[in-house]
Amino acid sequence: MGLKGKTVLVTGSSRGIGKAIAFAFAKEGANIILNAATSADELLRTQEELKAQGFYSYSYLADVSNYETCREMFQTISNIYGNVDILVNNAGISHMGLFTETTPDLWEKMISVNIKAMLNCTHLAVPKMVSAKEGTIINISSIWGQRGASCEALYSATKGAVDSFTKAMAKELGPSGIRVNAIAPGVIDTKMNQWLSPEEREILEDEISLMRFGTVDEVGQLAVFLASNRSSFLNGQIITLDGGMV
Ligand code: NAP
Repeated sequence: MGLKGKTVLVTGSSRGIGKAIAFAFAKEGANIILNAATSADELLRTQEELKAQGFYSYSYLADVSNYETCREMFQTISNIYGNVDILVNNAGISHMGLFTETTPDLWEKMISVNIKAMLNCTHLAVPKMVSAKEGTIINISSIWGQRGASCEALYSATKGAVDSFTKAMAKELGPSGIRVNAIAPGVIDTKMNQWLSPEEREILEDEISLMRFGTVDEVGQLAVFLASNRSSFLNGQIITLDGGMV
């Protein structure tokens, strides 16, 4: 895959999709930087699980929606590893409910975590990638970014922004040899969906051609492919990973 020795920062990797992405890159011999905002115990557990499998990683507890905090994180990474070769903007939050019942405070939070965190990390990672004339950015979007979901209007709007930023940055950075793509998962079995009742889960599964939720490892495999030289001509794409959702 050509990923051995590459430095990968996966934001929001204490659990769920980010954690699986970190494991998938670790198996390819990459240097892993884990991150989470508040879940220090989960972050440590993830680091220990990686270690138990023989993979060394570095973890940094930081709210990536804050630019100054991100700047300090990138400075630390730079001191230890030099460049971030692969940036996976994965940290994200969701909210279910009628838009009219949401509050400006919630809009601020969703925009900060789902959009600003991606802007912060991209802004801080890109200059060194441009100097090196190589690098890859993978943004974790959602199918709702393109399709829009009832009762997830805010979430859909933030993921729509992830999609357009991905396409724009792919054009801006392509001439420097940097590829930018996004993964738009459908329903993946993580803590984010734990609130679903068994009945709601069944209804959702019925809408998926493969009749099941996706696994975090399936997202991890796609992320590795998108960062590898096997996808060297793939740029500015939003890859849907939804098991064929109708
Ligand atoms: P999850 O299980 O809730 O994990 C989210 C991760 O992001 C956690 O490590 C969390 O750590 C971290 N995080 C949240 N806010 C952060 C912040 N401000 N700074 C740093 N880290 C932060 O969620 P998931 O299901 O794995 O989702 C991961 C990504 O996939 C999200 O972008 C989500 O929108 C996207 N996605 C998920 C699905 C799905 O079905 N699960 C579908 C489509 C897209 P803390 O708890 O410490 O903050």
